[in-house]
Amino acid sequence: MFEIVVSLCLLNDPDVCRLRLLPGFETATAERCEAIRESLAIDSHLGTAMDFLVNEAACRAMPEGLELDEIADGIFVHTGEISEANPANLGDIANMGVVIGDDTIAVIDAGGSHAVGEALYRAVRRKSRLPISHLILTHVHPDHIFGASVFAEAGARIVGHPNLVPALKDRQQTYLQTFTSEIGTKGFIGTSADISIEQPVDIDLGGRTLTLTAWPMAHSSTDLTVLDDRTGTLFAGDLLFDGHIPVLDGSLTGWQSVLDDIETLGAARIVPGHGRPALRPAEGIAPLRLYLQALENDTRQSLDAGQRMSEAVYHIGLDQEHFWDLFDLYNTRNATVAFTELEWE
Ligand SMILES: [Zn+2]
Repeated sequence: MFEIVVSLCLLNDPDVCRLRLLPGFETATAERCEAIRESLAIDSHLGTAMDFLVNEAACRAMPEGLELDEIADGIFVHTGEISEANPANLGDIANMGVVIGDDTIAVIDAGGSHAVGEALYRAVRRKSRLPISHLILTHVHPDHIFGASVFAEAGARIVGHPNLVPALKDRQQTYLQTFTSEIGTKGFIGTSADISIEQPVDIDLGGRTLTLTAWPMAHSSTDLTVLDDRTGTLFAGDLLFDGHIPVLDGSLTGWQSVLDDIETLGAARIVPGHGRPALRPAEGIAPLRLYLQALENDTRQSLDAGQRMSEAVYHIGLDQEHFWDLFDLYNTRNATVAFTELEWE
């Protein structure tokens, strides 16, 4: 398969460049690719508000793309690295899903940069040439959304929680700055959060329907799950963590209550936002519950003992340290959110 790429170079540092995919122009032969490339108006395709230079388009053999595991009939998961975003992983640190129906395809989450979105897009194209009708975003965090514009360009509708539009508006500048510094300018060139997001509705892919549920504040204020009716597979986004320490950016008690509801859905398997590609529901959720319960118990004890937040956050949840990766990066932050929430109950 062949694809069209353009070279993007920074305006203020023209030696820093990245080859960027123009999705939607894949062809079986190099000749056909050349014919399309010659007829393309690149400027109009990429828009005009750019802080980089767009150099001439070229055809090339399509690289492999991300690895996808088939976890159920027509359901594929890419397992993100358990890590912070960095120049080597380009923000490929969250799990992403692909659901292939008889008529169209839905993708669930898009990775932490345009480059990761491109690599996911290529992986999907190697599985099927059906149109990608929808990209579903499970929540606002940058490692799940920054590849979204790739799928928008390829014609997919982007769907998310009703709170996602305002949350993204508030946070995208901060997220862009953070991920630019973590991934590096070169790997991040061309990444944008400039996408239009539609309200969640059930999605018929042909022969299978995806049920989208927008949850009250839990992991974040924008959590959305996707349930495939053909296989009973639930994409939980970051409502479920596995291995990677849970990250609390919403409500501790809200998250515990949403987990109760998720367990009643009767899913056959759950895909977590971070960790292994698929888990059995009860076993998958249990460690997360224990962690959240420890946060709650320790926080209440600190409050009862009249401790100040500045001292309490250094011991809240500490006995959970050995069960989770990246514990030191997030536990104190989680304790701060828990303390602030429970203090005002
Ligand atoms: Zn998240």
